[in-house]
Amino acid sequence: MPTRFFDTYTREVREFVPLNPPNVSIYTCGPTVYSRAHIGNFRAYIFEDLLQRHLESRGYRVHRVMNLTDVDDKTIRGAREANVSLEEYTKPFKKAFFEDLETLRLKRADEFPAATESRYIARMIEMISQLRARDLAYQAEDKSVYFRIKKFPNYGKLAHLNLDELRPSGRVRTDEYEKENIGDFALWKAWDKEDGEVGWDSPWGHGRPGWHIECSAMATALLGDEVDIHCGGVDNIFPHHEAEIAQSEGCTGKKFVRYWLHCAHLLVDNQKMSKSLGNFYTLPDVTGKGYSGRELRYALLRVHYRVPLNFTWTGMEEARQALARIDEWRQRLAEVTGSQRQSNNIIQPRDDFSRALDDDLNISAALGYLFEVIRQTNRALDADELGADSARFWLDWWEKVNRVLAVDEVTSVALPKEIELLANQRTEARLAKNWRASDQLRDELSARGWDVRDTKEGQKITRRAGIQP
Ligand code: AMP
Ligand code: ZN
Repeated sequence: MPTRFFDTYTREVREFVPLNPPNVSIYTCGPTVYSRAHIGNFRAYIFEDLLQRHLESRGYRVHRVMNLTDVDDKTIRGAREANVSLEEYTKPFKKAFFEDLETLRLKRADEFPAATESRYIARMIEMISQLRARDLAYQAEDKSVYFRIKKFPNYGKLAHLNLDELRPSGRVRTDEYEKENIGDFALWKAWDKEDGEVGWDSPWGHGRPGWHIECSAMATALLGDEVDIHCGGVDNIFPHHEAEIAQSEGCTGKKFVRYWLHCAHLLVDNQKMSKSLGNFYTLPDVTGKGYSGRELRYALLRVHYRVPLNFTWTGMEEARQALARIDEWRQRLAEVTGSQRQSNNIIQPRDDFSRALDDDLNISAALGYLFEVIRQTNRALDADELGADSARFWLDWWEKVNRVLAVDEVTSVALPKEIELLANQRTEARLAKNWRASDQLRDELSARGWDVRDTKEGQKITRRAGIQP
């Protein structure tokens, strides 16, 4: 079965065929850095991480861009209230975001463009000029420039809206998507005293870009006119992604996105977790209760991305138990690999884990298969019937699975100081292409009970079974 995804645009599960296989371009709407991202945001990013890791496990080469929205109504308001520059205001939230990515083991995107970088502001101005030249945009009395949705017949297709029901609201200045009126939307917002020092010169006067054009400009600047996959949470569908289509296609005349993937919300008491409702948890709120990043990762990962997920502490406990089960299984297998036990009871490899994910990232079926493997191999272990070869086989299989799930215990264990020191020295030796030193350090680590493997992501260090740190 080929890889298939549910595409919001067509409302169909479609076979995934990228424009230039094996390359896949992905654009994901990143955080608005006006406060620390909450774990609802991270549900979206974890789903996107799973998507990328699964595609990579299937041999695709993913190029992913995630933007940082560092200029909009909320960031400007925050900076004004804190009486600091926009840059100063957003900086700590950007930093916290990258720390959280690390804790949750999210792969970093290849690029993290920020809306305020001059090359993207220039691109936004260029796109708005093109839209004006095509009569798809107009400058209103308030000096702001708006997109004329009546001139773009496909407007409403992504969200499946009837254009006749949309009331124009060209004078609305806010770009907070939950408040934005349906209708013409701002491409360029004329400077207002509330904007303070924030602003750029443009053919339409001093002002700043609207939120939607930021993503169109960064996506097309970095990934070209056509993007394979564009993702976000369902709240992004309208108006944000609808507007992105109108702006991008209005400029390029080409189909902007081949597959639109949207994740359902993380809920609290059956309401969307959001900053505006104040019902949110940040990552430190969760780790402060004693849970690890990988436990939260697992809790947010284990439910299919299109199914709303209610966040509860019971759910966190369940995640902890599931991971403990995996850890214990791995430990048991590792112990057997060092034994002389013979058997030929390798359960024939089936590709069920990956095949489940091929089916629109069906994580429940994938995890169902993983736990079935655990049940069967544990039974064989209980009966002393699992040989060293089988154990090694299943550990190798797990390693592949874990490259997609990224929930392994070892990667989260802090290395003892002296081991970390040797590991760092080895990284430096390899960077300096000093292979002799690198091999010596590997032997040194091995003598202390730590195995080193060099992978595409750098060296991986694992504690040999039975050796205590
Ligand atoms: P924002 O910083 O609000 O622009 O949101 C960043 C990303 O998080 C977007 O893709 C949103 O769709 C997504 N998002 C926001 N709230 C939630 C939630 N409660 N559950 C899942 N995704 C969310
Ligand atoms: Zn966006």
